[in-house]
Amino acid sequence: MTDYEAVIGLETHIQLNTKTKIFCSCKADSWSDAPNTNICPVCSGLPGVLPVPNKAAIEKGMLLAAAMHAEIQPLSYFDRKNYFYPDLPKGYQISQYDMPLARGGYMQLPLPDGSVRQVSIHKLHIEEDAGKTKNENGLRLIDFNRCGVPLIEMVTGPDLRSADEAAQYLTRLRQLLRWLGVSEADMEKAHLRCDANVSIRPKGAAYLNPKTEIKNVNSIEAVREAVGKEIERQIREVEAGHKIEAWTLEWDEDAGVLRKMRSKETEADYRYFREPDLLPVRIHEEWKQKVLSKLPELPLERRNRFINQYGLPEYDADILTGDRSLSEYFETAVKTYSGDPKRVSNWLMNDVLRMLNESGLTADQLKLTPQFLAEIIKLVDAGTINNNTGKNLLEKVQQTGRPPAKLVEEEGLARVSDDSAIRSVCQEVLAESPKEVESYKSGKVTLIGWFVGQVMKKMRGKADPNIARKILEELLG
Ligand code: ZN
Ligand code: MN
Repeated sequence: MTDYEAVIGLETHIQLNTKTKIFCSCKADSWSDAPNTNICPVCSGLPGVLPVPNKAAIEKGMLLAAAMHAEIQPLSYFDRKNYFYPDLPKGYQISQYDMPLARGGYMQLPLPDGSVRQVSIHKLHIEEDAGKTKNENGLRLIDFNRCGVPLIEMVTGPDLRSADEAAQYLTRLRQLLRWLGVSEADMEKAHLRCDANVSIRPKGAAYLNPKTEIKNVNSIEAVREAVGKEIERQIREVEAGHKIEAWTLEWDEDAGVLRKMRSKETEADYRYFREPDLLPVRIHEEWKQKVLSKLPELPLERRNRFINQYGLPEYDADILTGDRSLSEYFETAVKTYSGDPKRVSNWLMNDVLRMLNESGLTADQLKLTPQFLAEIIKLVDAGTINNNTGKNLLEKVQQTGRPPAKLVEEEGLARVSDDSAIRSVCQEVLAESPKEVESYKSGKVTLIGWFVGQVMKKMRGKADPNIARKILEELLG
């Protein structure tokens, strides 16, 4: 049996989060609106109307292009892509063809084995979305709300080598889109849509075999599953001596199977020509610089910097840069703390992340500011409060928004390390628990933890548990 490798390219459509649609002033996001309530003569294709380009859509496209290391073209054109389909009221889609907004580009995908996969992008163009059709009670229903929503289409080279890598690319792309603030990138709401081209070849070969195209994969997990199944199918076919045919397949999410669809139109069928109702898009240097000055440090760059500058493990760096506001939270906390960054990372990853997950807030919305977090860690380091009190304090600060030091003072949370105070509580606990003392003395020494717990309880968590343990052991001995 030969060893095979998969060759995968992904075509993505990204919904930009502009306020309005790309050529009219209808609002862009109509996810929760009733069908056909968010339309106007322009986006529903009535005769005699003229499109006006949305500057914000072009600027968001420029930001994404720069983040993908693509070259923004000083001159690009809109073209008509002609095809007939009920959800396309004009009979054509305004898109870009041979003169797109940006060319070239790549994303570097860090792989679990430590290597980096360079995923190339040939071009990146702007286009309008079409409407939606659905079958209901034997009727074909059409909703034009989505017509004219701004999209970026971006196609990768055949650079991905497994279903996992395809899923990872989408995860990183989604992270990047949110980081840049150009798309909500919610796959369930079709903000990020993906078609996958899949072929296989003997491992290490340089040529490409005929590929199949998988349509309508609407979640990252679905991409992983559908692509994985298609790779397995192609290997089975080739092993059985069959040829792979260039099918278009549809992923049926509920059944978890791929189905063969109609054959696809070829480029020539679309009869592309320049959109006569729109001027070319000219991006002069000054405009470009103004837009690109808003380009933040990118997630992968920040991830690598966290590893190098703060000595974080890759695992920590990945999680802390999973979200832009979390990464900024971390850096501010580290600066205020000015101690070991890994210590800040631990507090963040264990406690603050749980808080974020439970509340659904983003890091910048917490009342527990990064400065307050750093202050709490410092209080623990200085021995003013013990670790448990520190953890409880996180919640209290989050609830009240008050400075940790104030809360410690007001609620008398400072740690009691005075031996005699702890000693008298230890004696009290032992006197109240003759049964447990007996079991301890007859060999059940693990009870020490229970005794320490009782002392901590009586002292409302303010005792130093190590000192309490020492005193208890001494008394019991
Ligand atoms: Zn409209
Ligand atoms: Mn497209």
